Amino acid sequence: IIAPVQVPTAFGGTDQCMLMTFHDLTPLRRVEEMRADFVANASHELRTPLAALSGFIDTLQGQARDDPKARERFLGIMHAQATRMARLIDDLLSLSRVELSAHVRPDAMIDLKPLIKQVTDGLEPLAKERQVVIELELPEDAATIAGDREELLRLFENLIENALKYGASGGRVVVSVVAAVSGDGVPEYRALVRDFGPGIAPEHLPRLTERFYRVDVGDSRSQGGTGLGLSLVKHIVNRHRGRLLIESVLKKGATFTVCFPQGKPQV
Ligand code: ADP
Repeated sequence: IIAPVQVPTAFGGTDQCMLMTFHDLTPLRRVEEMRADFVANASHELRTPLAALSGFIDTLQGQARDDPKARERFLGIMHAQATRMARLIDDLLSLSRVELSAHVRPDAMIDLKPLIKQVTDGLEPLAKERQVVIELELPEDAATIAGDREELLRLFENLIENALKYGASGGRVVVSVVAAVSGDGVPEYRALVRDFGPGIAPEHLPRLTERFYRVDVGDSRSQGGTGLGLSLVKHIVNRHRGRLLIESVLKKGATFTVCFPQGKPQV
């Protein structure tokens, strides 16, 4: 920005000068680029099932019109694609809701023990389907943190559902909560979700919480994933002043740890 200014001189008068101000627009531009990327990715992800739906509608109106067997099969696929779209939209909405409230600290007092139990009870049908046993290792006493109930439910749903989906079928998933102290001396609760499946290669670990990032697109798509789950988890953890750690050894499994300060935060 260039603007004329009057500057006092040593002799009591004024001189006209030009003032140049420099603003670094890089961070702003980066946010703009991220937003544009996000819209492009979201549109692409929504367009894929939509294209499949249009294709099948054409086929149903044309060659499959008089073939009840093909009609039945196509309707099944269309149903799955519509479910995928609905899931994608749900995840996008949850993500934007959490992002919008990022500056507000959730402050309801929540015991992680019954909350996690509620999540694992809800995921029991999926565990049965994948023939996985969920083992709970919870402390005797309440594990209370300041949080948002709905968000914490979403967080644990995502982590435990991933462990069931991507962990070994026929294996086990261990969900535990322990009291600990953070590196800077803050008492915290750590919740760990551990599976003993194929694990995640080290090069993928830093990118897992990026929106739409999936390790094996084929496999993740077949599992009905949107690639938004861990991004949502990261945002929820940040809003709760927590930390998310992801550790994995290939062919041995993966451990997702979330750490939250105990009780009400001091500030
Ligand atoms: P998705 O909707 O695809 O599950 P997420 O953001 O939850 O998206 O996960 C991103 C990717 O990380 C998944 O597609 C999967 O490839 C990988 N992933 C997540 N959890 C695990 C796990 N427990 N074991 C192996 N891979 C995992």
